[in-house]
Amino acid sequence: MSEVLVLAAHDGESVKKVTLELLTLARRFGEPAAVWLGSGAEAARERLASYGAAKVYTADGDDMTDHVAAPAAEVLAALVAQASPAAVLVPATAEGKEVAGRLAVKTGSGVLTDAVDLVPGDDGPVAEQSIFGGAIIVKSQVTAGIPIVAVRPNAVAPEAAPGEAALEPVTVDLSDAAKGARITERVTQERSERPELTEASIVVSGGRGVGGADNFALIEGLADSLGAAVGASRAATDAGWYPHQFQVGQTGKTVSPQLYLAVGISGAIQHRAGMQTSKTIMVINKDPEAPIFELADFGVVGDLFKVVPQLTEEIARRQGS
Ligand SMILES: Cc1cc2nc3c(=O)[nH]c(=O)nc-3n(C[C@H](O)[C@H](O)[C@H](O)COP(=O)(O)OP(=O)(O)OC[C@H]3O[C@@H](n4cnc5c(N)ncnc54)[C@H](O)[C@@H]3O)c2cc1C
Repeated sequence: MSEVLVLAAHDGESVKKVTLELLTLARRFGEPAAVWLGSGAEAARERLASYGAAKVYTADGDDMTDHVAAPAAEVLAALVAQASPAAVLVPATAEGKEVAGRLAVKTGSGVLTDAVDLVPGDDGPVAEQSIFGGAIIVKSQVTAGIPIVAVRPNAVAPEAAPGEAALEPVTVDLSDAAKGARITERVTQERSERPELTEASIVVSGGRGVGGADNFALIEGLADSLGAAVGASRAATDAGWYPHQFQVGQTGKTVSPQLYLAVGISGAIQHRAGMQTSKTIMVINKDPEAPIFELADFGVVGDLFKVVPQLTEEIARRQGS
């Protein structure tokens, strides 16, 4: 069976959830082999094994982590030449997409980005992409070289499967071009206890209907009762009610959680573009004509200041019982 290379996203210690999703997808096309740059592979091995990684290629050393994107592309290119994989999967993050582009150039292969699903076709993997602000789903396929696909986080639910995760060190002499820019400092972003927005299984987002920065405590309370991340519409972030890094939409983050709760959000096309591939969408809005209801699996027509506290209380009551 051919290998499918999966570029592991990690923070040097723990594996990011998107890696487990990519391993799950990779099993549809062959034998998943994770590619781990930098240190920490040994510690992560068990987790990678439990999601079906047959192998973990490791490329350690300062050179691998001191430069952005280019080392990953060169390591993957070397592995493509060595293993002739059925496909290469990378996370559709800013860095992952840059790696995908560089790898495509190096290997003369086609690249697909922002896939929301990947299924076997007659001539290899067929990717689904959500385009024009999500109004249209296209299916596309790589026709040259090895398919390189950047898959959005949360495209699939990670499913456990046994694997060996045999560590296999690889040595790649990076080109001077790959070392052209050096990372001089890393600043760790202050993190809340909440899950990361693009990785969360549940996202609760607030919009202009929330009415002010202080009222976002209501959204946070609901999110915390569900173990969810908090998002916001651009109207809310532009008003300074919530930080811009939590904006969901065309010019913000793209999320695709199992459950998306839109609270006081009208559903403008630019907001939809960032959330409409969510598996289940629930809406709380006082206007029954709000366009967001067109997307909703469940909707509550009501005043969020009445509905949200009751919902949070009921969730807490059920969790307590
Ligand atoms: C180039 C461009 C890029 C953009 N990118 C983004 C983007 O990335 N993300 C994004 O979100 N927007 C983006 N926008 C802005 C977008 O067009 C909308 O203006 C924005 O999404 C509206 O935010 P909203 O739904 O929170 O506000 P509104 O459209 O004002 O909707 C507020 C909603 O709250 C409801 N409401 C009010 N009070 C209550 C209450 N008490 N209880 C319940 N419901 C209540 C109202 O009925 C209404 O439906 C972009 C626009 C442009 C032009």
